[in-house]
Amino acid sequence: MKSIMFIAPPAAGKGTQAELIMDQYHIPHISTGDILREISKEDTEIGNYVYETLASGNLVKDEITYKLVENRLSKKDCKNGFIIDGFPRNYEQALKYDEILKKINLKLGYVFVLDIDEKRLEKRITGRRICPDCHAVYNINEENQKPKIDSICDDCGGKLYQRKDDNLESFQTRYQMYLKKTAPIIEHYDKKGLIYHLDGNKKPNEIFDQIIKIIGGE
Ligand code: AMP
Repeated sequence: MKSIMFIAPPAAGKGTQAELIMDQYHIPHISTGDILREISKEDTEIGNYVYETLASGNLVKDEITYKLVENRLSKKDCKNGFIIDGFPRNYEQALKYDEILKKINLKLGYVFVLDIDEKRLEKRITGRRICPDCHAVYNINEENQKPKIDSICDDCGGKLYQRKDDNLESFQTRYQMYLKKTAPIIEHYDKKGLIYHLDGNKKPNEIFDQIIKIIGGE
């Protein structure tokens, strides 16, 4: 199984697609945002720094991010494919990612780009709720993505929470950064013939069907 990368603005649904792929193909989902959120809970100097940076919507220092990506991808469970989500986020990180993969003998694979309207993203950001226990993602602004019981996870009964950076102010910082810094790396992967565009305005299961067709069709 080739590795899979997602390039998408915040709340475009990359986490949801990554979880669906993980269940179907049994490969790990590596989200730099999730790993950093775990680090932000630690009461250490790095933990406190990461906590503040995440809340502001700015990027965490490269030296921290690179180390965590290399360490995580070096684990045995990545040998048969993995999904990377949230990294790389700019051109420098894309070049560093090429270097890291070479060093640990892994390859680039599919690069999925989720294209989606800004207004829809705003609606998703303010409605997104997450289960802290099983990481299921819900959206109270989308009829078909609400939990059955208010604030409770359908799958495991966990108490849903809202991410600290899921507000309109932080969204604008993250979205503008995506447009200026992350979107331009699409060209880097396009030159390598790895890019697949997906319509992020569609329902999660329709997007997933597109992904399966692409993966299955190779
Ligand atoms: P995400 O869950 O991908 O939206 O990421 C949440 C936050 O984690 C971002 O707003 C950044 O503060 C931080 N973060 C995630 N990935 C990276 C990265 N590749 N480089 C630097 N900071 C990151």
